[in-house]
Amino acid sequence: MTVTLEFLGTGGAHSEDLGSSSAKICLPNHQSMLIDFGPDTFFAVKERKLQFDAIFLTHAHLDHVGGLERLFFNIAFKEQRSIKLFIPVGLVTRLHQIFGSAGSQVAEGGMNFWDSFQLIPVSDAFYFGGYRFNVFPVRHHFPGEAFGLALPGCFVYTGDTRPIPEQLVAHAGRGELIFHDATTATNPAHSALNDLKREYALHNVLERLILYHFDSAAERQFAEGQGWRTARLGVIYQFGYNQGFAGSAESTDEQKAAEELSANVH
Ligand SMILES: [Zn+2]
Ligand SMILES: [Zn+2]
Repeated sequence: MTVTLEFLGTGGAHSEDLGSSSAKICLPNHQSMLIDFGPDTFFAVKERKLQFDAIFLTHAHLDHVGGLERLFFNIAFKEQRSIKLFIPVGLVTRLHQIFGSAGSQVAEGGMNFWDSFQLIPVSDAFYFGGYRFNVFPVRHHFPGEAFGLALPGCFVYTGDTRPIPEQLVAHAGRGELIFHDATTATNPAHSALNDLKREYALHNVLERLILYHFDSAAERQFAEGQGWRTARLGVIYQFGYNQGFAGSAESTDEQKAAEELSANVH
């Protein structure tokens, strides 16, 4: 009985080699939810023939939602099913402006963007597959525009953000693994490595960070060279009873991390 999380892409908006940042969460009852759906996510899902029941969107930047139009066409003309779309309530208007407000979604008419999705606006928390997920605001561009996701006792996924020590105090107090935005150069939108080191130095946080959203594989490698742990494709993080690691290759370190985490998460 485990919850798992696996990345489908780990890059930022400028990345050409890491794919759009997105992750798939699988619950013990086999229901699954993606976090974000950027331009590359559609192809990652397709290539691996992944099934999923829902998507949670962290924010409306196109590197996180840009694959939704292609998904709409796929659902509308091929799959003809409906996918749950959990969206922080303040972002609904923005997403409707981007995807839903065209005069007609298809030239022949008769179809709405939202026909293919079950829109579920969320504020502080929502239920999916019998689990309660927490949603919290992060620091990324204008206030109220970006959100993180937490499954208590398992993980925190920050989405794009500057450091958020106050939110990690609130949501990462039970040994959760923390998937965190990172970049190498200090900037106003994301978390530079030195920012992370400074902001989280006093908390039991640094050793639980798994960094993603780098601009390139070279940038990620630079971070790894400094001792940071980073997200990689093919690694499956497991949480819950019988916790362990079922990832691929490179993963002595990750396995160790999962084993360490298993001491804290039940
Ligand atoms: Zn981004
Ligand atoms: Zn962003």
